[in-house]
Amino acid sequence: MTFSTRFAPSPTGPLHLGHAYSALTAYNMALENNGVFHLRMDDLDQSRSRRHWENQIFEDLSWLGIKWPEPVWRQSERMAKYRSALQTLWNRGLIYPCHCSRADIINAINAPQEQDPQIGPDGMIYPGTCRPQKPLKGPLPNISLRIDMRKALKCHSRGLYFTETGMGPNGKTGLVKIRNMVENAGDVALARAQIGASYHLSIVIDDAEQGITHIARGRDLFEATQIHVLLQRLLDLPTPVYHHHKLIRDKTGRRLAKRDDARAISKYREEGKTPQDIRCMIGL
Ligand code: GLU
Repeated sequence: MTFSTRFAPSPTGPLHLGHAYSALTAYNMALENNGVFHLRMDDLDQSRSRRHWENQIFEDLSWLGIKWPEPVWRQSERMAKYRSALQTLWNRGLIYPCHCSRADIINAINAPQEQDPQIGPDGMIYPGTCRPQKPLKGPLPNISLRIDMRKALKCHSRGLYFTETGMGPNGKTGLVKIRNMVENAGDVALARAQIGASYHLSIVIDDAEQGITHIARGRDLFEATQIHVLLQRLLDLPTPVYHHHKLIRDKTGRRLAKRDDARAISKYREEGKTPQDIRCMIGL
């Protein structure tokens, strides 16, 4: 199997130094292992994705010396694949439609009999308001869909693991055993009302279909990996090796985000910095 990595940005703003670190880490891993580096556009959220940003990503990465095979996959063009995976989970009674708004969820969590809101890798842990007692029949609904975590985990009594060659926020590395997903993640959304599929579902399917063997990404996504590994098991897909890397922070210690335009790669380029300068700035 060819050693394959990928970088999957959302074209919703300029790439900054944190993206450069992630892309170059994945690219270097591929080079060192005679492998392939893929570029993919996580543009599921069409309300925020722009072709203009996509073109800027191509320019920035080329300028950094990164090469990738064409065509570049766009998630917005792959919705049928995601819906087909959702259909499989629906047929097995593992997902259910959810009508709750964010406010409904907050209200349910704040109800006196409930405890303090728990935050998981997908935001607030869902209180289970719409979880059905019995499996639902009929066509796959076109609204928000959540996984029935208790049920899904019953299919995997032998346990869930993944290999980490980088590090999680608490130093976890090596063979990582996934525990307590009901409490830590809960019934995460696999499809959203306006979008049709969630990030967790779409990247798992793309990674498998593109033959990605090694995933390099920021440590902030370490906790989301448990969801990805569970989905891989449920959909009978392979689990890649994960490498969660350090996050690039600003002077105050805050993680860089898209809003940090001042640290956009394009700005540095305009100021006359070289790709080597960027590598030095991020310690590569
Ligand atoms: N589009 C996601 C991000 O930029 C990709 C995350 C991942 O690598 O799985 O955060």
